[in-house]
Amino acid sequence: MSKPKVVVLGAGYAGLVTTRHLTKKLSQEEAEIVLINKHNYHYESTWLHEVAAGTLEPNQARFMISDVVNPNRVRLIYDSVVKINKDEQRVVLENSEVSYDYLVIALGFVTNTFGIKGMEENAFFIQDIDSSRLIAEHIEYQFAKYSAGEITDDDALNIVVGGGGFTGIEFVGELVEEVPRLCKKYDIPRNKVRIINVEAAPSILPMFDKDLVSYAIQSLEARGVEFRMGAAISECTPEGFVVGDDKELIKGGTVVWTGGVKGNPVLSESGFELVKGKVNADADLRMQGEENIFALGDCSWVMDKEAGRPYPPTGQLATQEGVIAAENIKSLIRNEPLKEFVFSDKGTVASLGVTDGIGNIFQGTKLKGKSAAAMKKVVDDRTLFLVGGPKTVIKKGKFRPF
Ligand code: FAD
Ligand code: NAD
Repeated sequence: MSKPKVVVLGAGYAGLVTTRHLTKKLSQEEAEIVLINKHNYHYESTWLHEVAAGTLEPNQARFMISDVVNPNRVRLIYDSVVKINKDEQRVVLENSEVSYDYLVIALGFVTNTFGIKGMEENAFFIQDIDSSRLIAEHIEYQFAKYSAGEITDDDALNIVVGGGGFTGIEFVGELVEEVPRLCKKYDIPRNKVRIINVEAAPSILPMFDKDLVSYAIQSLEARGVEFRMGAAISECTPEGFVVGDDKELIKGGTVVWTGGVKGNPVLSESGFELVKGKVNADADLRMQGEENIFALGDCSWVMDKEAGRPYPPTGQLATQEGVIAAENIKSLIRNEPLKEFVFSDKGTVASLGVTDGIGNIFQGTKLKGKSAAAMKKVVDDRTLFLVGGPKTVIKKGKFRPF
């Protein structure tokens, strides 16, 4: 009898952790493992706001998949998934097709524009390494053009960020570090550059307590961020965001949308039933109604039974799911009972630049300032360890031993 074939789609947090655990739990004779990813590298999605601001080199936020997964044990395919044909147990790629016995869908998120007019065409997105690097390069190009006299409109230096959730706020936190460096490099007075965050809700970061949110607002305002809260964006034009009933235009030379995410479009291409852009997964992490398909990370909703709503989608959740998905695939192959996934919440930290932040850890301990910033680096390196092991932490980690 031929051995079962396990195919993992996506080498992000969930996919890489699943693959690495599968190689530990299953012998070569028990299963063939295939990992399919668009690129030959993994990137840290949780560091993309730094790449987008220019405070982190893109190469520092990524590493080669073959450095952390043994290509003699796992067949690595670098190609884009187009759709999944579950009736035939096949995955259609841009350049070939792959059959499977067990499938893990871990293709992550894309930016959600909610159909807002002009957003796809005119705004930048913090979505992957390439889209994030483009933002940093565009910002610097605006500075270079202004300095060379090629543009004279001061608004061209404005950086306008739509969405005051985690991504938008962590991004403006990085910008307040990067903008002064660019001002110095291009001989532009700091007061010529505006960083404007536009949020529809009455406040930013709704998941944090009021005192931490006030701290974040004060800290960022003191470093030059302007907030427009209660300002719903209804349109994005090449000049900026349109907000409010009076259709005010908030102008910027760099317009970035961080208003939300949804599951990878491969899910809809494959005809799966979607709930708010993702599929529902059962407690064993299999896609609802499926025996041999697991859906993880930002592609699925998994119910938090205690809270009565799905777990919020994070890198922390995706890595923990990867461990249980691998365990359950092993159990299916060995005819053993499956485990239920229960999320172990280690807390939440938002950075406000390199040396500032806010956080809630160990279910109740609040952090702000330098301690939160340090904790964020610990969290970043812990996650890097889980996906890449100790050598990757030494090469790419935030805490540098040498
Ligand atoms: P991802 O890690 O995004 O991986 C998806 C993989 O699939 C990628 O390798 C991608 O290249 C690949 N892929 C995509 N499409 C295709 C295709 N068609 N074919 C082949 N391969 C494909 N969460 C936290 O817990 N803490 C944080 O501090 C945090 N910070 C964040 C900061 C930012 C700026 C953003 C945007 C998100 C942050 N998050 C954070 C959320 C976190 O990044 C996501 O929840 C997490 O990345 C989800 O993991 P995943 O494995 O589902 O997908
Ligand atoms: P989000 O959905 O958390 O935040 C989007 C924000 O945009 C919200 O505050 C929303 O009110 C606002 N918005 C939506 N439509 C708008 C409109 N028309 N006009 C103005 N504002 C509008 O999205 P995100 O910040 O991209 O985060 C995505 C996911 O990644 C979340 O699950 C988040 O928890 C996770 N994440 C976590 C961290 C962290 O843990 N440090 C960092 C980044 C992202």
